[in-house]
Amino acid sequence: MNIILLGPPGAGKGTQAQRLVERHGMKQLSTGDMLRAAVKAGTSVGLKAKAVMEAGELVSDEIVSALIGDELDAMASGQGAIFDGYPRTAPQAQSLEAILETRGRTLDHVVELEVNEDALVERITGRYTCASCGKGYHDTFEKPVVEGTCDKCGGQEFKRRPDDNEETVRTRMAEYRAKTAPILPLYEERGIVARVDGMAEMDDVTNAIEAILNGR
Ligand code: AMP
Repeated sequence: MNIILLGPPGAGKGTQAQRLVERHGMKQLSTGDMLRAAVKAGTSVGLKAKAVMEAGELVSDEIVSALIGDELDAMASGQGAIFDGYPRTAPQAQSLEAILETRGRTLDHVVELEVNEDALVERITGRYTCASCGKGYHDTFEKPVVEGTCDKCGGQEFKRRPDDNEETVRTRMAEYRAKTAPILPLYEERGIVARVDGMAEMDDVTNAIEAILNGR
């Protein structure tokens, strides 16, 4: 099964994708994660992407589509893919069609996480992760049990994304509204779009997504 998780920044795409990975052995294909890894490694892609990402704008369609194609090529054909943060523009959606077709894959579901933008700003600007294991936390909603120590691995260093500040978040949301939301009709025509209340409790969101994947 191949699915797209769609929604503005902070809607919970990454969290939900990780849960699907754990439950179903699918692979999360997050272009944001791939780009952050490229920036960290200082590759040519990373050098091109860094300033664009810090401004909250979109990296070129060619770069992200190439990353997705390469990741799919490295996967076993039977393993399902969760597209997280891709496609984000009409040209990316077109590229994905070709990318899937040449690899004999089809798109089963597009799940849109619906959210309230103002609440998202609080969600995003408060989030941080453990620098060792990547577990996510939040200043208000999910603090470690012991302050300063990761619940999962005991790590004591945490990090925040440089683009998780209010100004950049507003730009990222405007980009979503202007360029990403308009790709939905393409999938609506095919009857594969399902909407989930992304403001609900995390477990309820997961259950709603599971119900869609199970055709309920
Ligand atoms: P994300 O982790 O999905 O929020 O992405 C972080 C940033 O990476 C975005 O604000 C963009 O600058 C860039 N990015 C991630 N995915 C894409 C994409 N599919 N197309 C263009 N830029 C992207």
